[in-house]
Amino acid sequence: MPGYELFGHAERKEVNEVLETGILMRYGFDGPRKGIWKAKELEHEISKRLNVPYTQLTSSGTSALTTAMAALGLGAGDEIIMPTFTFVASFESVFSVGAIPVLVDVDDTLTLDPKAVEAAITPRTKCVMPVHMCGAMADLDALKAICEKHNLILLEDACQSFGATYKGKALGSIGHAGTFSFDFVKTITCAEGGAVITNDKEVYVKCDGYTDHGHDHLGVDRGADLHPFIGYNYRISELHAAVGLAQVRRLDDFLATQRANKKVLKDAVAAIPGVTFRRLPDEAGDSATFLSFFLPTEEAARKATAAIKAAGLPAFFWFDNNWHYFRQWQHFKQSAVLTPFAAQLQQAMEVYKTRTFPASDAIMGRCISTPINLTWSKEETAARAKKLAEAIQSAL
Ligand SMILES: *Cc1c(COP(=O)(O)O)cnc(C)c1O
Repeated sequence: MPGYELFGHAERKEVNEVLETGILMRYGFDGPRKGIWKAKELEHEISKRLNVPYTQLTSSGTSALTTAMAALGLGAGDEIIMPTFTFVASFESVFSVGAIPVLVDVDDTLTLDPKAVEAAITPRTKCVMPVHMCGAMADLDALKAICEKHNLILLEDACQSFGATYKGKALGSIGHAGTFSFDFVKTITCAEGGAVITNDKEVYVKCDGYTDHGHDHLGVDRGADLHPFIGYNYRISELHAAVGLAQVRRLDDFLATQRANKKVLKDAVAAIPGVTFRRLPDEAGDSATFLSFFLPTEEAARKATAAIKAAGLPAFFWFDNNWHYFRQWQHFKQSAVLTPFAAQLQQAMEVYKTRTFPASDAIMGRCISTPINLTWSKEETAARAKKLAEAIQSAL
């Protein structure tokens, strides 16, 4: 993690093919583009790689989430159950369609606790949105069973987990739709971009139009398209798609490197009494972008974070971070949304001004993640593992 570490010849070649035609837009210009359709090709490549029938590229992971929600019929007043630990884009997308984010506790999988999900269901609940954080999966069997029992939509925010699987199936392909981000720090990147995947043709057709002003893309040319519903511009460009295409073809190499490097770090840390690891419902499917572990107390986690950083290694203590964990989401708690449903939303959001999540705090206050890089040599990985273990040990 992430793909930007390894830009090279393959990315340049794909981008140059687009620049040579001069057609930077993904639709239209059929003649001058000389058969170069990078966005279409990337959609095809992702569908093939993740074994899903439909992929719709978007301009970002945030717009992929918004697009998926619109295509799934989520809107004003609908409650979407989501975790207290995620990236802010997850709740931004909920707000953008006028829906209400209902936060529930995370457990030691670092995402939705199925018991907390079930307890939060009301007659207005429409969707459960697990976020597959830090490269690995939620407990999807349990969440899927809850959605089936209560007739709810399962939308997987897999923006951080491209290439990860659960019991052999790609994350994102198990719910009604799943989303990915290809922003600059994700597993594969094209600077800015995203995707929605789905097994449902109707959902896909809506995503296709929604991201391009409602075009049905069925005309003999762009000018002859009809517009069966209102859409927006959430298109990806050919230049971005070209970079993504080179990166997705390297995914298996990236995953193999991450998994090998992570194993070395994990083995070193596993020897320390008192350290436990994030629970992975299917360890074989982990994309291994991060090693996430727990210390016995918040005090020890703070000390260990400082010691790891002092040793020159990266450490994320999400508990203090205002992008990823509820505790510091001041803008969420104040929910100053600029949408037509602002008044209705604000009333529903009042509860968060005083709400606390002790069960999430008990998990996130003890959790540290360290990223796994692609460019480490064997020696460097071993040296890092040793330093990491020593730093953690010093905090206990
Ligand atoms: C990165 C991310 C997004 C949004 O992706 P962008 O491409 O940056 O808009 C959404 N959800 C999660 C969990 C993310 O990490």
